[in-house]
Amino acid sequence: MSDGAFDRIALIGLGLIGSSIAWAAKRAGLAGHIVGTARSEQTRETSLRLGFVDSVAVTPAEAVEDADLVILCTPVGTYGALAQEIQDTLKPGAIITDVGSVKTAVVRDVGPFVPEGVHFIPAHPVAGTEYSGPESGFAELFDNRWCILTPPPGADRGAVDQLTNFWRRCGSNVDFMTPEHHDLVLAVVSHLPHLIAYNMVGTAADLEEVTQTEVIKYSASGFRDSTRIAASDPTMWRDIFLNNREAVLEILGRFTENISALQRAIRWGEGDALFDAFTRTRAIRKQIIEAGQDTAEPDFGRTARKAPTDKTS
Ligand code: NAP
Repeated sequence: MSDGAFDRIALIGLGLIGSSIAWAAKRAGLAGHIVGTARSEQTRETSLRLGFVDSVAVTPAEAVEDADLVILCTPVGTYGALAQEIQDTLKPGAIITDVGSVKTAVVRDVGPFVPEGVHFIPAHPVAGTEYSGPESGFAELFDNRWCILTPPPGADRGAVDQLTNFWRRCGSNVDFMTPEHHDLVLAVVSHLPHLIAYNMVGTAADLEEVTQTEVIKYSASGFRDSTRIAASDPTMWRDIFLNNREAVLEILGRFTENISALQRAIRWGEGDALFDAFTRTRAIRKQIIEAGQDTAEPDFGRTARKAPTDKTS
C-alpha cells in the first residue's frame, strides 16, 4: 500500500495553494525535498525565507528534473504552456498533477504534452481563501476539506493510490469524478457564487445615490460577506471563467430563470412563493453545517488566521 510520500516534490507556482501544499506536506512528513519555482525572483526568495521549500529553481523545466511528484499551482490559463515547457525534463514514472479549479480544460491543455511513462492525474483541492501569494499559505488549509481527483480512464492504479494518500495525509477527504462532472459541480458551488459576488459588489460600487461610505458603514447587513468573495484574485478568476465557459453559462441560465421568478413574486406580492423559496435554501445551510463544512457560529464561523512565518508554525 502506498504511503503518499515522495522523495522529491516540485511545485510550480508558490502562491496560496502551492505554499499551503508545501506546509501540509512538511507537517505530515510527505516530502524528502521540496523544490519550488515561480515567475518572480521575489516570490522564490520569499518562499525560501519562509522555509516551505527546500530549494528553488529559476525555470519550471529545471524544477521538475528528478521530481517524483510535480504539482502545477499556477492560474489555469498557464498550464498548457507550462506542460509544454517541462515535458522533456519530466522523470519517467513521475506523477504530474495540478490544483486547477477547472478540469476539462486542464485535460485538454496538459494532456497532449504528458510523455509516455509519466502519470497525469488532475486534481482540485476545494479549499481556499481570498488571499494570494507565498505568505498566505498555511498547513491547515486542506484539513477536512475535499480534494477531487479526475484520473483519466486507464490511469495507473498505483499512481492514483499514491496521490490519493498524499492528499489524505495533507488533511483532505478525497473524491473521484469525471472532469465534466467536476466542472458542473464547481460551477454551482463556486464559480456562480463568485460571479454573483463580483457583480453585487460592482453594482454597489456603481451606485450614485447611495454613497461609498454608506455602503461600507452598513455592510454588515449582508454585503460584507460578498466582498470577501469578490476580493479573490482577478487573474485566477478570469482564467476560471474563460476555461469553464459551458458549465458556467448553463448554471447562469438557470440562475437567471430563478431570479426572474423571484422578481415576479416581489412585483405581484406573492409572499408565499418568497417564503417557500427562502425556507428551501435554509435547509441547505443546515446540511453544510451538519457535514462539517462550516460552523453555526455567527460571522460564518470564520476566525482570524495568521499566515505561518517560519517552518515550525
Ligand atoms: P496565487 O496565490 O496567485 O499564486 C500563483 C502562483 O503562480 C504565484 O507564485 C505566481 O508567481 C505563479 N505563477 C503565475 N504564472 C506563472 C508562470 N507562468 N510560471 C511560473 N509561475 C507562475 O494563486 P493560488 O490562489 O495559489 O491559485 C493557484 C491555482 O490554484 C489556480 O489554478 C487556482 O485555480 C487553484 N485554486 C485556487 C484556490 C483559491 O482559493 N485561491 C482554491 C483551489 C484551487 P509570482 O508570485 O512570481 O507571480
